[in-house]
Amino acid sequence: MSQSPQNITVLGSTGSIGVSTLDVLARHPDKYRAYALTANTSVDLIIPQIQRHSPRFAVMRDERSAQQLEDQLFALGHKETAVLSGEKGLLRVASDEAVSAVMAAIVGAAGLSPTMAAVTAGKKVLLANKESLVMAGHLFMEAVETSGATLLPIDSEHNAIFQSMPARYQSGKSTGLASEGVRRILLTGSGGPFRELPLAQLPLVTPDQACAHPNWDMGRKISVDSATMMNKGLELIEACWLFNTTADRIDIVIHPQSIIHSMVEYTDGSVLAQLGNPDMRTPIAHALAFPDRIDSGVGSLDIIATARLDFEAPDYQRFPCLRLATEAAAVGGTAMAVLNAANEVAVDAFLAGSIRFTDIPLTIEHVLAAKTIVEPDTLALVQAQDASARVLANRFIETLIRA
Ligand code: NAD
Ligand code: MG
Repeated sequence: MSQSPQNITVLGSTGSIGVSTLDVLARHPDKYRAYALTANTSVDLIIPQIQRHSPRFAVMRDERSAQQLEDQLFALGHKETAVLSGEKGLLRVASDEAVSAVMAAIVGAAGLSPTMAAVTAGKKVLLANKESLVMAGHLFMEAVETSGATLLPIDSEHNAIFQSMPARYQSGKSTGLASEGVRRILLTGSGGPFRELPLAQLPLVTPDQACAHPNWDMGRKISVDSATMMNKGLELIEACWLFNTTADRIDIVIHPQSIIHSMVEYTDGSVLAQLGNPDMRTPIAHALAFPDRIDSGVGSLDIIATARLDFEAPDYQRFPCLRLATEAAAVGGTAMAVLNAANEVAVDAFLAGSIRFTDIPLTIEHVLAAKTIVEPDTLALVQAQDASARVLANRFIETLIRA
Protein backbone atom coordinates (compact mmCIF):
# COMPACT_ATOMS: atom_id res chain seq x y z
CA MET A 1 0.00 0.00 0.00
CA SER A 2 1.44 3.38 -0.92
CA GLN A 3 1.65 6.00 1.83
CA SER A 4 0.78 9.63 1.27
CA PRO A 5 3.81 11.96 1.00
CA GLN A 6 5.21 13.50 4.20
CA ASN A 7 4.59 17.22 4.62
CA ILE A 8 7.82 19.21 4.90
CA THR A 9 8.22 22.81 6.04
CA VAL A 10 11.26 24.55 4.56
CA LEU A 11 12.21 27.55 6.71
CA GLY A 12 14.42 29.74 4.50
CA SER A 13 13.42 28.11 1.20
CA THR A 14 14.96 30.85 -0.98
CA GLY A 15 18.47 30.42 0.48
CA SER A 16 21.26 28.12 -0.56
CA ILE A 17 20.16 25.24 1.72
CA GLY A 18 16.48 25.91 0.96
CA VAL A 19 17.03 25.63 -2.79
CA SER A 20 19.02 22.39 -2.37
CA THR A 21 16.27 21.01 -0.13
CA LEU A 22 13.57 21.74 -2.72
CA ASP A 23 15.75 20.06 -5.35
CA VAL A 24 15.87 16.87 -3.26
CA LEU A 25 12.13 17.01 -2.45
CA ALA A 26 11.28 17.38 -6.14
CA ARG A 27 13.13 14.13 -6.90
CA HIS A 28 10.75 12.22 -4.59
CA PRO A 29 7.20 13.51 -5.03
CA ASP A 30 5.91 10.11 -3.88
CA LYS A 31 7.66 10.56 -0.50
CA TYR A 32 7.67 14.29 0.26
CA ARG A 33 5.57 17.36 -0.30
CA ALA A 34 6.67 20.94 0.38
CA TYR A 35 3.94 21.99 2.82
CA ALA A 36 5.25 25.45 3.72
CA LEU A 37 7.96 27.69 2.25
CA THR A 38 9.33 30.78 3.98
CA ALA A 39 11.52 33.70 2.94
CA ASN A 40 12.78 36.99 4.28
CA THR A 41 11.54 39.61 1.77
CA SER A 42 12.49 38.13 -1.61
CA VAL A 43 9.08 37.85 -3.28
CA ASP A 44 10.70 37.33 -6.70
CA LEU A 45 12.61 34.28 -5.49
CA ILE A 46 9.73 32.58 -3.70
CA ILE A 47 7.15 32.96 -6.50
CA PRO A 48 8.69 30.37 -8.85
CA GLN A 49 9.14 28.03 -5.85
CA ILE A 50 5.45 28.41 -5.01
CA GLN A 51 4.45 27.80 -8.61
CA ARG A 52 6.63 24.69 -8.78
CA HIS A 53 5.69 23.16 -5.39
CA SER A 54 2.19 24.52 -4.64
CA PRO A 55 2.74 24.58 -0.87
CA ARG A 56 -0.21 24.98 1.50
CA PHE A 57 1.50 28.03 3.10
CA ALA A 58 4.10 30.67 2.23
CA VAL A 59 5.46 32.93 4.96
CA MET A 60 7.17 36.28 4.40
CA ARG A 61 9.06 38.15 7.10
CA ASP A 62 6.91 41.27 7.10
CA GLU A 63 3.39 42.25 6.16
CA ARG A 64 4.50 44.41 3.26
CA SER A 65 6.24 41.59 1.39
CA ALA A 66 3.43 39.21 2.32
CA GLN A 67 0.95 41.64 0.72
CA GLN A 68 3.15 41.93 -2.38
CA LEU A 69 3.33 38.15 -2.63
CA GLU A 70 -0.41 37.79 -2.19
CA ASP A 71 -1.08 40.37 -4.94
CA GLN A 72 1.31 38.73 -7.36
CA LEU A 73 0.00 35.22 -6.72
CA PHE A 74 -3.53 36.55 -7.31
CA ALA A 75 -2.45 38.13 -10.59
CA LEU A 76 -0.90 34.80 -11.62
CA GLY A 77 -4.12 32.95 -10.78
CA HIS A 78 -2.36 30.84 -8.13
CA LYS A 79 -4.92 30.04 -5.44
CA GLU A 80 -3.52 26.98 -3.63
CA THR A 81 -1.16 28.80 -1.27
CA ALA A 82 -2.15 30.88 1.77
CA VAL A 83 0.27 33.70 2.58
CA LEU A 84 1.24 34.39 6.21
CA SER A 85 3.72 36.83 7.68
CA GLY A 86 6.09 37.52 10.54
CA GLU A 87 7.16 35.42 13.49
CA LYS A 88 3.58 34.28 14.06
CA GLY A 89 3.47 32.79 10.57
CA LEU A 90 6.86 31.11 11.01
CA LEU A 91 5.87 29.58 14.35
CA ARG A 92 2.64 28.33 12.82
CA VAL A 93 4.27 26.46 9.93
CA ALA A 94 7.12 25.17 12.12
CA SER A 95 4.69 23.49 14.52
CA ASP A 96 1.67 22.74 12.27
CA GLU A 97 0.14 19.37 13.13
CA ALA A 98 0.18 18.26 9.50
CA VAL A 99 3.97 18.66 9.24
CA SER A 100 6.32 15.67 9.63
CA ALA A 101 9.68 17.37 9.23
CA VAL A 102 11.03 20.91 9.36
CA MET A 103 14.15 22.02 7.51
CA ALA A 104 15.60 24.81 9.68
CA ALA A 105 17.52 26.84 7.11
CA ILE A 106 16.97 30.47 8.05
CA VAL A 107 20.34 32.15 8.51
CA GLY A 108 21.40 33.59 11.85
CA ALA A 109 19.61 34.41 15.10
CA ALA A 110 16.34 34.96 13.19
CA GLY A 111 16.14 31.16 12.96
CA LEU A 112 16.11 30.61 16.72
CA SER A 113 12.42 30.88 17.62
CA PRO A 114 10.95 29.02 14.61
CA THR A 115 13.52 26.24 15.05
CA MET A 116 12.69 26.02 18.75
CA ALA A 117 8.99 25.92 17.86
CA ALA A 118 9.62 22.89 15.63
CA VAL A 119 11.62 21.22 18.39
CA THR A 120 8.99 21.95 21.05
CA ALA A 121 6.29 20.53 18.76
CA GLY A 122 8.29 17.28 18.63
CA LYS A 123 8.97 17.41 14.90
CA LYS A 124 11.74 15.74 12.98
CA VAL A 125 14.07 18.76 12.76
CA LEU A 126 16.70 18.93 10.03
CA LEU A 127 19.09 21.44 11.52
CA ALA A 128 21.05 23.71 9.18
CA ASN A 129 20.65 26.85 11.33
CA LYS A 130 23.70 26.27 13.54
CA GLU A 131 23.33 29.73 15.12
CA SER A 132 20.27 28.60 17.11
CA LEU A 133 22.27 25.82 18.75
CA VAL A 134 25.24 28.13 19.37
CA MET A 135 22.98 30.72 21.03
CA ALA A 136 20.82 28.47 23.16
CA GLY A 137 22.34 24.97 23.03
CA HIS A 138 21.42 24.02 26.58
CA LEU A 139 17.75 25.06 26.27
CA PHE A 140 17.59 23.65 22.75
CA MET A 141 18.83 20.17 23.71
CA GLU A 142 16.62 20.16 26.80
CA ALA A 143 13.61 20.89 24.58
CA VAL A 144 14.59 18.03 22.25
CA GLU A 145 14.71 15.69 25.24
CA THR A 146 11.36 16.86 26.65
CA SER A 147 9.40 16.88 23.40
CA GLY A 148 10.91 13.74 21.89
CA ALA A 149 11.81 15.62 18.70
CA THR A 150 14.25 13.94 16.32
CA LEU A 151 17.22 16.16 15.62
CA LEU A 152 19.30 15.42 12.53
CA PRO A 153 22.31 17.56 11.58
CA ILE A 154 22.47 19.07 8.10
CA ASP A 155 25.80 20.85 8.53
CA SER A 156 28.01 18.59 6.40
CA GLU A 157 30.58 17.99 9.17
CA HIS A 158 28.00 17.12 11.81
CA ASN A 159 26.10 14.98 9.37
CA ALA A 160 29.38 13.16 8.61
CA ILE A 161 30.08 12.70 12.34
CA PHE A 162 26.55 11.37 12.84
CA GLN A 163 26.99 8.95 9.94
CA SER A 164 30.31 7.75 11.44
CA MET A 165 28.66 6.89 14.76
CA PRO A 166 27.51 3.33 15.60
CA ALA A 167 23.92 2.31 14.75
CA ARG A 168 23.01 2.23 18.45
CA TYR A 169 24.00 5.88 18.78
CA GLN A 170 22.16 6.87 15.59
CA SER A 171 18.94 5.28 16.79
CA GLY A 172 19.07 7.26 20.03
CA LYS A 173 19.64 4.18 22.19
CA SER A 174 23.14 5.09 23.35
CA THR A 175 24.07 6.45 26.76
CA GLY A 176 26.79 8.62 25.25
CA LEU A 177 30.00 8.72 23.25
CA ALA A 178 32.14 7.16 26.00
CA SER A 179 29.96 4.04 26.11
CA GLU A 180 30.32 3.77 22.32
CA GLY A 181 34.11 3.74 22.60
CA VAL A 182 34.52 7.13 20.90
CA ARG A 183 37.90 8.67 21.70
CA ARG A 184 37.61 11.93 19.79
CA ILE A 185 35.92 13.72 16.92
CA LEU A 186 37.96 15.13 14.03
CA LEU A 187 36.08 18.17 12.73
CA THR A 188 37.37 19.04 9.27
CA GLY A 189 37.32 22.42 7.55
CA SER A 190 38.70 23.63 4.25
CA GLY A 191 40.40 26.72 5.70
CA GLY A 192 38.38 28.94 3.36
CA PRO A 193 39.61 31.26 0.59
CA PHE A 194 42.34 32.99 2.65
CA ARG A 195 44.23 30.00 4.01
CA GLU A 196 47.38 30.96 2.13
CA LEU A 197 46.89 34.68 1.50
CA PRO A 198 49.83 36.80 2.78
CA LEU A 199 48.69 38.09 6.20
CA ALA A 200 49.33 41.73 5.23
CA GLN A 201 46.61 41.44 2.56
CA LEU A 202 43.88 40.23 4.92
CA PRO A 203 42.70 43.75 5.90
CA LEU A 204 42.23 44.56 2.21
CA VAL A 205 40.04 41.66 1.09
CA THR A 206 36.63 42.51 -0.37
CA PRO A 207 33.24 40.93 0.43
CA ASP A 208 33.20 39.23 -2.98
CA GLN A 209 36.63 37.70 -2.39
CA ALA A 210 35.51 36.50 1.04
CA CYS A 211 32.37 34.94 -0.46
CA ALA A 212 34.25 33.05 -3.21
CA HIS A 213 34.66 29.78 -1.31
CA PRO A 214 37.00 27.30 -3.02
CA ASN A 215 34.70 24.25 -2.61
CA TRP A 216 31.21 25.20 -1.40
CA ASP A 217 28.54 27.46 -2.87
CA MET A 218 26.75 29.01 0.14
CA GLY A 219 24.88 32.08 1.39
CA ARG A 220 26.97 35.22 2.00
CA LYS A 221 26.92 35.17 5.81
CA ILE A 222 28.22 31.61 6.16
CA SER A 223 30.72 32.28 3.34
CA VAL A 224 32.26 35.15 5.33
CA ASP A 225 32.19 32.93 8.43
CA SER A 226 34.15 30.33 6.46
CA ALA A 227 36.69 32.96 5.39
CA THR A 228 37.26 34.11 9.02
CA MET A 229 36.91 30.47 10.19
CA MET A 230 34.27 31.63 12.67
CA ASN A 231 32.22 28.99 10.89
CA LYS A 232 34.51 26.27 12.28
CA GLY A 233 34.29 27.87 15.72
CA LEU A 234 30.48 27.86 15.56
CA GLU A 235 30.66 24.26 14.36
CA LEU A 236 32.86 23.29 17.31
CA ILE A 237 30.16 24.62 19.67
CA GLU A 238 27.45 22.99 17.55
CA ALA A 239 29.25 19.62 17.80
CA CYS A 240 29.57 19.90 21.60
CA TRP A 241 25.79 20.28 21.95
CA LEU A 242 24.76 17.78 19.26
CA PHE A 243 27.04 15.01 20.47
CA ASN A 244 26.94 15.92 24.18
CA THR A 245 30.70 16.27 24.45
CA THR A 246 33.34 18.86 25.33
CA ALA A 247 35.68 20.86 23.12
CA ASP A 248 38.74 18.95 24.39
CA ARG A 249 37.35 15.83 22.68
CA ILE A 250 37.14 17.61 19.31
CA ASP A 251 40.16 18.31 17.11
CA ILE A 252 39.81 20.78 14.26
CA VAL A 253 41.66 19.58 11.16
CA ILE A 254 42.23 21.63 8.03
CA HIS A 255 41.47 19.58 4.93
CA PRO A 256 41.53 21.89 1.90
CA GLN A 257 39.83 19.51 -0.57
CA SER A 258 36.54 19.16 1.42
CA ILE A 259 36.14 15.51 0.40
CA ILE A 260 36.27 14.04 3.91
CA HIS A 261 33.47 15.81 5.78
CA SER A 262 34.64 14.80 9.29
CA MET A 263 35.78 11.72 11.24
CA VAL A 264 35.24 9.81 14.47
CA GLU A 265 38.08 8.02 16.25
CA TYR A 266 37.42 5.01 18.48
CA THR A 267 39.40 3.65 21.43
CA ASP A 268 40.70 0.74 19.35
CA GLY A 269 42.39 3.22 16.99
CA SER A 270 39.80 2.94 14.20
CA VAL A 271 38.98 6.21 12.47
CA LEU A 272 35.70 6.29 10.53
CA ALA A 273 35.03 9.04 7.99
CA GLN A 274 32.26 10.09 5.65
CA LEU A 275 33.41 11.19 2.19
CA GLY A 276 31.59 12.67 -0.78
CA ASN A 277 31.44 15.50 -3.26
CA PRO A 278 30.97 18.85 -1.53
CA ASP A 279 27.24 19.20 -2.24
CA MET A 280 24.73 19.87 0.56
CA ARG A 281 22.11 17.70 -1.14
CA THR A 282 23.92 14.65 0.34
CA PRO A 283 23.39 15.54 4.03
CA ILE A 284 19.90 16.90 3.20
CA ALA A 285 18.85 13.63 1.54
CA HIS A 286 20.48 11.62 4.33
CA ALA A 287 18.58 13.45 7.06
CA LEU A 288 15.28 13.55 5.16
CA ALA A 289 15.18 9.81 4.55
CA PHE A 290 17.03 8.60 7.67
CA PRO A 291 17.37 5.70 8.32
CA ASP A 292 16.66 4.94 4.65
CA ARG A 293 18.79 6.18 1.74
CA ILE A 294 17.42 8.08 -1.25
CA ASP A 295 18.87 9.61 -4.40
CA SER A 296 20.07 13.19 -3.79
CA GLY A 297 21.11 14.11 -7.32
CA VAL A 298 24.78 14.17 -6.24
CA GLY A 299 27.11 12.34 -8.62
CA SER A 300 29.66 9.66 -7.68
CA LEU A 301 32.85 10.77 -6.03
CA ASP A 302 35.73 10.45 -8.52
CA ILE A 303 38.35 9.33 -6.03
CA ILE A 304 40.98 8.83 -8.76
CA ALA A 305 40.57 12.40 -9.99
CA THR A 306 40.63 13.62 -6.37
CA ALA A 307 44.04 11.92 -6.03
CA ARG A 308 45.16 13.79 -2.89
CA LEU A 309 43.73 14.43 0.53
CA ASP A 310 45.78 16.94 2.54
CA PHE A 311 45.58 17.75 6.24
CA GLU A 312 47.03 20.58 8.36
CA ALA A 313 46.68 21.96 11.87
CA PRO A 314 44.52 25.11 12.16
CA ASP A 315 46.30 28.48 12.29
CA TYR A 316 44.88 30.38 15.29
CA GLN A 317 46.96 33.47 14.53
CA ARG A 318 45.63 33.90 11.03
CA PHE A 319 42.10 33.11 12.21
CA PRO A 320 41.48 34.87 15.57
CA CYS A 321 37.75 34.05 15.26
CA LEU A 322 38.63 30.40 15.82
CA ARG A 323 40.33 31.34 19.10
CA LEU A 324 37.41 33.57 20.16
CA ALA A 325 34.87 30.79 19.55
CA THR A 326 36.99 28.25 21.41
CA GLU A 327 37.29 30.66 24.36
CA ALA A 328 33.54 31.38 24.35
CA ALA A 329 32.86 27.63 24.39
CA ALA A 330 35.15 27.28 27.43
CA VAL A 331 33.46 30.19 29.26
CA GLY A 332 30.00 28.74 28.47
CA GLY A 333 26.66 30.36 29.39
CA THR A 334 25.65 33.36 27.31
CA ALA A 335 29.23 33.83 25.99
CA MET A 336 28.24 31.85 22.91
CA ALA A 337 25.10 33.91 22.22
CA VAL A 338 27.20 37.07 22.63
CA LEU A 339 29.88 35.73 20.29
CA ASN A 340 27.23 34.87 17.73
CA ALA A 341 25.45 38.24 17.93
CA ALA A 342 28.66 40.27 17.65
CA ASN A 343 29.74 38.13 14.73
CA GLU A 344 26.43 38.62 12.88
CA VAL A 345 26.62 42.41 13.30
CA ALA A 346 30.28 42.52 12.24
CA VAL A 347 29.73 40.28 9.21
CA ASP A 348 26.79 42.45 8.10
CA ALA A 349 28.97 45.57 8.43
CA PHE A 350 31.79 43.92 6.46
CA LEU A 351 29.37 42.80 3.71
CA ALA A 352 27.99 46.37 3.58
CA GLY A 353 31.52 47.69 3.05
CA SER A 354 31.58 49.60 6.37
CA ILE A 355 34.44 47.75 8.10
CA ARG A 356 37.49 45.73 7.11
CA PHE A 357 37.69 41.93 7.18
CA THR A 358 40.11 42.07 10.11
CA ASP A 359 37.69 44.30 12.06
CA ILE A 360 35.33 41.31 12.42
CA PRO A 361 37.38 39.58 15.18
CA LEU A 362 38.19 42.97 16.76
CA THR A 363 34.47 43.69 17.14
CA ILE A 364 33.71 40.28 18.61
CA GLU A 365 36.64 40.46 21.05
CA HIS A 366 35.51 43.91 22.22
CA VAL A 367 31.90 42.82 22.80
CA LEU A 368 32.88 39.60 24.59
CA ALA A 369 35.15 41.56 26.93
CA ALA A 370 32.42 44.12 27.68
CA LYS A 371 29.57 41.71 28.46
CA THR A 372 28.87 39.96 31.74
CA ILE A 373 28.29 36.30 31.06
CA VAL A 374 25.47 34.48 32.82
CA GLU A 375 23.90 31.02 32.72
CA PRO A 376 20.75 31.47 30.59
CA ASP A 377 17.68 29.68 31.91
CA THR A 378 15.11 31.09 29.49
CA LEU A 379 15.00 31.82 25.79
CA ALA A 380 13.99 35.40 26.65
CA LEU A 381 17.27 35.86 28.51
CA VAL A 382 19.25 34.54 25.55
CA GLN A 383 17.39 36.94 23.28
CA ALA A 384 18.03 39.86 25.64
CA GLN A 385 21.77 39.05 25.67
CA ASP A 386 21.71 38.80 21.89
CA ALA A 387 20.03 42.22 21.62
CA SER A 388 22.41 43.99 24.03
CA ALA A 389 25.47 42.41 22.37
CA ARG A 390 24.22 43.82 19.05
CA VAL A 391 23.98 47.32 20.55
CA LEU A 392 27.57 47.07 21.83
CA ALA A 393 28.82 45.71 18.50
CA ASN A 394 27.14 48.51 16.55
CA ARG A 395 28.60 51.13 18.92
CA PHE A 396 32.09 49.70 18.50
CA ILE A 397 31.69 49.61 14.73
CA GLU A 398 30.71 53.31 14.81
CA THR A 399 34.05 54.09 16.48
CA LEU A 400 35.88 52.05 13.82
CA ILE A 401 34.11 53.92 11.03
CA ARG A 402 34.87 57.34 12.58
CA ALA A 403 38.54 56.49 13.25
P1 NAD B 1 21.15 32.03 2.73
O1 NAD B 1 21.53 33.41 3.10
O2 NAD B 1 21.46 31.53 1.37
O3 NAD B 1 19.58 31.83 3.00
C1 NAD B 1 18.96 32.25 4.17
C2 NAD B 1 17.45 32.04 4.12
O4 NAD B 1 16.90 32.61 5.30
C3 NAD B 1 16.76 32.73 2.95
O5 NAD B 1 15.66 31.97 2.54
C4 NAD B 1 16.28 34.06 3.55
O6 NAD B 1 15.16 34.58 2.88
C5 NAD B 1 15.92 33.62 4.96
N1 NAD B 1 16.07 34.71 5.95
C6 NAD B 1 17.14 35.52 6.13
N2 NAD B 1 16.92 36.40 7.12
C7 NAD B 1 15.68 36.14 7.60
C8 NAD B 1 14.86 36.73 8.62
N3 NAD B 1 15.30 37.75 9.37
N4 NAD B 1 13.64 36.19 8.84
C9 NAD B 1 13.18 35.17 8.10
N5 NAD B 1 13.89 34.58 7.10
C10 NAD B 1 15.13 35.05 6.85
O7 NAD B 1 21.81 31.08 3.83
P2 NAD B 1 22.30 29.54 3.68
O8 NAD B 1 23.67 29.51 3.16
O9 NAD B 1 21.23 28.75 2.99
O10 NAD B 1 22.38 29.12 5.21
C11 NAD B 1 21.22 28.87 5.98
C12 NAD B 1 21.64 28.26 7.30
O11 NAD B 1 22.26 27.01 7.06
C13 NAD B 1 22.70 29.09 8.07
O12 NAD B 1 22.44 29.01 9.43
C14 NAD B 1 24.01 28.40 7.73
O13 NAD B 1 24.97 28.52 8.75
C15 NAD B 1 23.56 26.95 7.60
N6 NAD B 1 24.41 26.13 6.72
C16 NAD B 1 24.50 26.44 5.40
C17 NAD B 1 25.32 25.68 4.57
C18 NAD B 1 25.41 25.97 3.08
O14 NAD B 1 26.05 25.20 2.36
N7 NAD B 1 24.82 27.03 2.58
C19 NAD B 1 26.05 24.62 5.09
C20 NAD B 1 25.93 24.34 6.45
C21 NAD B 1 25.10 25.10 7.27
MG1 MG C 1 29.73 23.03 7.80
